[in-house]
Amino acid sequence: MMPGWERWAVSELPLLVLAAIGAHLVSSAGQTLLHRWLGHRRWAGRFFRNHINFHHAYYARGHMTSAVYRGEEGNNTPFFLIPVLLAGSGLFFLLPHELFAAAALGGAASFAAHVYFDKVYHVSGTPLGRFAWFRRKQQLHFVHHLHANSNFAVIDFFWDRLLGTYRAPDEDAPERPQAAARPTRRAMLVAALRR
Ligand SMILES: [Zn+2]
Ligand SMILES: [Zn+2]
Repeated sequence: MMPGWERWAVSELPLLVLAAIGAHLVSSAGQTLLHRWLGHRRWAGRFFRNHINFHHAYYARGHMTSAVYRGEEGNNTPFFLIPVLLAGSGLFFLLPHELFAAAALGGAASFAAHVYFDKVYHVSGTPLGRFAWFRRKQQLHFVHHLHANSNFAVIDFFWDRLLGTYRAPDEDAPERPQAAARPTRRAMLVAALRR
């Protein structure tokens, strides 16, 4: 007979993982839609002004990064906590406690990751710059600063593909993340062998 924890891992764990992933997807879809429909629509008033006058004004063509993040002023993020907390308290009464805990953890981690990525994309010399996947996402986010009708996602750019707002980085983009310009290990090896 299977020990208790193994039975739990087989019967309960997959559902908890799915709940956490689901919460992340809801959070990343919500971020993409709110960025598109509030951050970049004049009728959204304060949300529009905050986003354009600060985040987009600080980081535009020719100056995509700074030593420390400069967009704290006019930050809209705390307002998004209101719908998140409302939806969360609704789920508390609908879901079994274990599932609710998994979804809450997944949602909170996703929210924190969105806030973090949105900042470090614009911080020069961020330690994450050593990872190709991060530089790719950073480039896609910079495309949004160059072409504000595209790439509204911060983490999951497949939402932009679904919405028809996806735009790949231009090959001749003037603004490439600094870390991307760093020679790869292979390039350094080739250069060393040529010497
Ligand atoms: Zn924007
Ligand atoms: Zn940005």
